[in-house]
Amino acid sequence: MSENTNPDTNVDPAELEKFSALAERWWDPDSEFKPLHEINPLRSDYIDKYAQVAGKQLVDIGCGGGLLSEAMAQRGAKVSAIDMAETPLQIARQHAVQSGLDIEYMQRSAEDLASERAGQYDVVTCLEMLEHVPDPASVVNACARLLKPGGHAFFATLNRNPKSYLFAIIGAEHVLNLLPKGTHEYEKFIKPSELDSWMRAAELRLAHSTGMVYNPFSQRYRLDPKDLSVNYLLHAVAGE
Ligand code: SAH
Repeated sequence: MSENTNPDTNVDPAELEKFSALAERWWDPDSEFKPLHEINPLRSDYIDKYAQVAGKQLVDIGCGGGLLSEAMAQRGAKVSAIDMAETPLQIARQHAVQSGLDIEYMQRSAEDLASERAGQYDVVTCLEMLEHVPDPASVVNACARLLKPGGHAFFATLNRNPKSYLFAIIGAEHVLNLLPKGTHEYEKFIKPSELDSWMRAAELRLAHSTGMVYNPFSQRYRLDPKDLSVNYLLHAVAGE
């Protein structure tokens, strides 16, 4: 655990401050959040393909300014969304009003919500969040507890290997300036095998996985199930 980890909750206050400081620009597609804007249609299509979200109860864990939460609501899901940072939540609430979407945004940890609402959701999404928390296995476990039997979980994070260090930190933060320096810490990146073992411990079965691959020349992302080396997205199913 890092020194500034709050011992009472699975939260790193420095991480929340980082996202709060940038939150005003969350919906600006040319801001620090550009990569999230670019992957949002890809990951939304992926989630909808495997979980058919229309009419389903969905909870978005670590929702930030609400890019994925809104995309899911637009596809007809009944969306609750949580984050521990206050400013991104304010931005998310304002934006949902502008978009005419009814989304329940709450400042809550995944673990607390799992105690309050165990077994209430058809779909749990937890994207680009696990690499920012002190104990990601605990979040995975909370996500599993939120699901109904047979429910769908989606996790996206960054792999940990020399290539992901080069692409996600040196490339994205230092060469291409896609992300502010310090956005990511290499030590917190997560190998798919580690995430899979936390999922299995929480009785989530890996169903499918895909990479989200950035091409610096075309400046485009695409899904590639054969390349999980940097950004990747997993689909898991809860035990019946
Ligand atoms: N999931 C969103 C936002 C990713 S940015 C998307 O992909 O579009 C990471 C988010 O995780 C930030 O909003 C940050 O405040 C949030 N976060 C960090 N630690 C958290 C914690 N312990 N509990 C809940 N949210 C957390």
